[in-house]
Amino acid sequence: MNRNEALFSLIRRLETEHRLERSEYEFLLANRTPEAAARLADSAVRLRREIYGNDVYIRGLIEISSFCRNDCLYCGIRRSNSRCQRYRLTPEEILECCREGYELGFRTFVLQGGEDGWFQDGRLCKLIGRIRSAYPDCAVTLSLGERSRESYQRLFDAGAERYLLRHETASRAHYEKLHPEEMSYDSRMRCLRDLKEIGYQTGCGFMVGSPFQTAKELAEDLFFIQEFQPQMCGIGPFIPHADTPFAGKPAGTAQLTCYLLSIIRLAVPGVLLPATTALGTIDPAGREKGILSGANVVMPNLSPASVRKKYMLYDNKASDGAESAQCVSELSRRMEAIGCRVVVGRGDARQAF
Ligand code: SAH
Repeated sequence: MNRNEALFSLIRRLETEHRLERSEYEFLLANRTPEAAARLADSAVRLRREIYGNDVYIRGLIEISSFCRNDCLYCGIRRSNSRCQRYRLTPEEILECCREGYELGFRTFVLQGGEDGWFQDGRLCKLIGRIRSAYPDCAVTLSLGERSRESYQRLFDAGAERYLLRHETASRAHYEKLHPEEMSYDSRMRCLRDLKEIGYQTGCGFMVGSPFQTAKELAEDLFFIQEFQPQMCGIGPFIPHADTPFAGKPAGTAQLTCYLLSIIRLAVPGVLLPATTALGTIDPAGREKGILSGANVVMPNLSPASVRKKYMLYDNKASDGAESAQCVSELSRRMEAIGCRVVVGRGDARQAF
């Protein structure tokens, strides 16, 4: 069998069974060809259409704080980065973002931030309650890092229904190369299990092309995602930040990110899969390419303009043009140009099978 024949036989199995072994994912990744990429994208888009039609869901991303107690080696807002400009939005400012977002057609608000101790449970619960009562037809998604199970439960009871926590890498050894000693793979995984058990629509995910990542680590990620069956999955290229230990490391590519998006669509058919800001940052057509590889979500930036440049996870992080919530009409046009339509609605996960 030549390389493409071997790839196509695996892809056919993934299309029908929606699962592969670790070693098979590794083969798909280590032997990537343009033909395999095209076939995967084609099947992924077909499956996305069967489940979600041509709808693309939008989420308003509100970056609530750039303070962080963690020191992830890749991240621009790590606590050791003394050049990071720190800010924290007030509950009033966050509500103002929601008000503006609602007008623009957003029905999901994603509150994301560093792990900032100011946002203790009491304050967050109150904020979530205010958003839910002001906008009862909207979903609140949190992306605030690792917390205790009790904390996750309180936030859920206060009305947050979704939580995004990328697992970052499903390989323990790799996890330890991306994080300082005081952070742990077990704790990250514990959080993800707790979130799912509590009843959140849960999102995991990872960076593509992070330092020390090979086909083996990526195969581990895909296998983990297939077993965990998240409702959401965020992946985007690693992009170096100049003021981190990983400055100067090469960025991940749009091509590999798109290849992985297609595989993830096939492994978890009903997953809500964003074409991320990082993908839109390394490639001006990244959002379109992501959707054409099987993604069905975009998350424009709804943070106040005054803080956008301060939430710099990586160099040159895009926050204007179609990355900006204010330009949702431009985003809509771009999606229409590739046969999709941006819809006004909560955009919950659908059960595929
Ligand atoms: N503190 C929250 C939110 C983190 S920021 C949490 O721990 O979940 C959201 C995501 O940005 C991270 O999960 C990480 O995968 C991604 N990210 C951080 N630094 C990055 C970089 N240099 N390049 C690309 N993505 C990055």
